[in-house]
Order: sequence, then structure tokens, then C-alpha cells
Amino acid sequence: MIPGPGWIEVDVEAIARNVVVVRKAIGPATPLCGVVKADAYGHGIDLVLPVLMNAGITTIGVTANEEAHRARELGFRGRILRLRAALRDEVEDAASAGVEEWAGGLAHAREIDAAARAAGRRIPVHVSLNSTGLSRDGVDLGAGHGTAELVGIGRLAGVRPIGVCAHFPCEDEEDVAAGAEAFREQSAEAAGLLGAPPGVERHCATSYAALTVASSRFDLVRVGAALYGDTAAPVAGLRPALRLLSRIAAINAYPAGSTVGYDRGHRLAHAARLAVVPLGYADGYHRVLGGRAHALVRGHRVPAVDKLAMNSLVLDVSRVPEARIGDEVVLAGGQGGEAILAKDLEAASGQIAADLYTAWGRLLPRRARAGQGAS
Ligand SMILES: *Cc1c(COP(=O)(O)O)cnc(C)c1O
Repeated sequence: MIPGPGWIEVDVEAIARNVVVVRKAIGPATPLCGVVKADAYGHGIDLVLPVLMNAGITTIGVTANEEAHRARELGFRGRILRLRAALRDEVEDAASAGVEEWAGGLAHAREIDAAARAAGRRIPVHVSLNSTGLSRDGVDLGAGHGTAELVGIGRLAGVRPIGVCAHFPCEDEEDVAAGAEAFREQSAEAAGLLGAPPGVERHCATSYAALTVASSRFDLVRVGAALYGDTAAPVAGLRPALRLLSRIAAINAYPAGSTVGYDRGHRLAHAARLAVVPLGYADGYHRVLGGRAHALVRGHRVPAVDKLAMNSLVLDVSRVPEARIGDEVVLAGGQGGEAILAKDLEAASGQIAADLYTAWGRLLPRRARAGQGAS
């Protein structure tokens, strides 16, 4: 393959190690739903799912049908949970892959029911509750209509409630603990109203919740971020699995006082050597990073100085006189002893890192880290 101007590299061994770390932290009693939505957070379901299957994970979380179908093609025979309310068409199409749907209220459960009739089979669902106050798609048991909604969902012929679930709005220990307590009470009440079988599965925890508040774990934890080494939870040993790479295409010297890039957004205080990297905002390196982010060249941190262009950016490599055309540039991840971490990108962009790397996953070619097999 001819290397593209930019690419992402996925360290599948880091993901395998992260699974071990997460399992150790949450203990053997709680099964783990490995979340592979958004094409495994941009890391590529083809690379990530085999790792999870090798680790013995038998439940995965998806959002798009493509992920569910791909999982079956890859030989995954376990359970597939959808982690958002889906459209009727999506539900009908996903029934053949055995997807367990996320039911977001009575009106939405009726959509699932209609899809079930069209698909000619009952569809297992997890009924979302608003116990945590996300107010996105959960039935609100504090509202007058919540009780009747759950009874109504339980009566739909095409829908089989096998779980009750919730989702946390905040990565905050107290907030999670309070939400988990509310969910404990409401999930028991909801199971009764739904007419669900005893032992109906209860789940609400994400990576942060599962790793921070033990009482949020219930019967299953839905872990995504931690698998990829990007969680705010205080757990030692998790490693980022993704790097964003490119190479220096050209280097030029400019005198003090020169302005750099669009809108003359940067002025050189001293004579400088500037390197052009063939990656820009159209490649998912968001424009807000221009003038704020750093990259690594030969193990040194160097600033991205210009307002980014559509397909290129400028690094000031004056501090790295040995920098040459063709040198590897790391825009996220490690090089030598240095690393551009998620928190660096978050400080520079004002966004969560996942907002960036999920875009890179869609826009750039992806490779397994050298020595780990092709992607
Ligand atoms: C994405 C998602 C998760 C996983 O969250 P992480 O913080 O990435 O572990 C769990 N549940 C739902 C509903 C989600 O959308």
C-alpha cells in the first residue's frame, strides 16, 4: 500500500491489555459488554472485535447496523446490544443479526413492535429508564405517565423486555453513585410493570462509572472508552491504543517578522524552520487545533503554528535542526519518550478527544501497529 498523507495506527496489544486491566478492576463477577460503536471508536471493528473475542467477551455494544452485521461476518456469535434508540428501518434490518434493541419510551417501543411484525420475529429489548436524569430516551418514573408507559411496553406483542438500562449524564463520582441508587429502586419497579421475567438484566455503567463506583455495576457494564485507553477513571495501566501519524512533506526557512498561514494568523518572532505536514481539517484534524496543538518530530514537541488549511498544517521545527523531509510526525500518541495525550488534544481543542479520533477513524486509512498483522 502506498502510504496516504496521514493514517492512524492501532495497537491491538494495548487493547488486549486494557481488557485485562478493566476485568481486574471490576472483578470477575460482572460481565463486560465491549462497546464497539462508531466503528470501535474509530479504531476499526475488524481490528478490535477479534481482540475482544479472544479475551472471551460475549456481549458487545453497537450503534449502527453495519457494526452488527460486520460482527456476525467476523464470526461473533454472542449478544449484540444497541446502545441508542434506533429508527424503525434500522430495527427491522438488524433483526436478522439478532440485535437486542434499546427501547426509548413507549412510542419508540411501538416502532420496534412494528419492525418486529415486519421482520416476523419478536425483538428483545432493554428498556431505558430516566433514573440518572439524562432525559434523552429513558422512561421517567417520576413523571405521571411513566408507570403506564412501562405497562404499555410490556403488552406489545413484538417486543420482549429482557433488560432495563440507564445511562449517566456526568463523569462525577457522587452523581454516578446517586444515579445508581435511583436506578436500583426504579429498575425493580420497572421490571414488575413490564411483566419482565425474574432476573431481568439491569445495566447502567459506562467505563467511568464501572471503574469508579462499584454500586453502578449491577448485572453488566458497558465499557468502551477504557478499552481504548481513554477514560478519566483513576485506573492505572490503561494505555491509549491509537496514534495519528503523518510525515513532513517540505521544510523551509523564513526570516523573523514573516507571517505564517491564512489570515497572517502567526508571526515569527525569530527566523524559523517551518515544516509542512499534509494533513488538515478535512482529514479530521479540526481547525481549532491550529496555533494551539503540538506534534512530535524526532521525539520533540513542536507547535502547530498556522491556522490549519484543508489538507495541510505547519509545524515550527526550529528546535529540531535534525528534522528532515519524510520524517514521521505524530499528532496523537507517543514517539520516543514523548506523547501527545488525549488531555493535550482536549486542552488544545476544547473538545473531548473522542470527538477527534472518531472522525480520524472515518476519514483516514488505518493500520495495525507494525508487527501485529495487517489491518
Ligand atoms: C458509548 C456508550 C457506553 C460506553 O461508554 P464509555 O464511556 O465509552 O465506556 C455505554 N453506554 C451507552 C448507552 C453508550 O452510548
